[in-house]
Amino acid sequence: MLCPCGSQQSFSQCCQVFITQNIPTESPEQLMRSRYSAYATNHAEYIFNTYAGASQKDQSINDIKQWASETKWLKLVIHHASNFHRDLLAGNNAWVEFSAFYLHQSQLCHMRENSRFIVENKQWRYLDGNVTNNTEINKPKRNELCFCGSTQKFKQCCAKHF
Ligand SMILES: [Zn+2]
Ligand SMILES: [Zn+2]
Repeated sequence: MLCPCGSQQSFSQCCQVFITQNIPTESPEQLMRSRYSAYATNHAEYIFNTYAGASQKDQSINDIKQWASETKWLKLVIHHASNFHRDLLAGNNAWVEFSAFYLHQSQLCHMRENSRFIVENKQWRYLDGNVTNNTEINKPKRNELCFCGSTQKFKQCCAKHF
């Protein structure tokens, strides 16, 4: 299966390595992608474990699991990412701005967020994020442009997920 993060690589050669083998991600973008893929494949423990310590107290693995199972993840688009190597970044924030498109209770949704990442114990962690857009969108007709911004027709793009 192709990796949910949209890398065009197979899942086993992309995000699955980080999710199931405890291998640290090299960059905030890699952590962002692997967390998205963990949502898409319902690996709630990985999502919990990659929150920064300060953010974990507001999370529960069961809540993450429930949210992931009610949601069908369609597409991830990365807009910007600071790509520092974790060894070069002591105590600073790194940012990744992304859009995620998903179906929740049959409603198509677009969430755009600027996420903040920090290094803890030499590993990238997700601290928090500013959600700049969270809207319900209409499913396009087959020959219309896809909602995800790819400039392809819907039928050639995200329609395969429906
Ligand atoms: Zn991936
Ligand atoms: Zn699309």
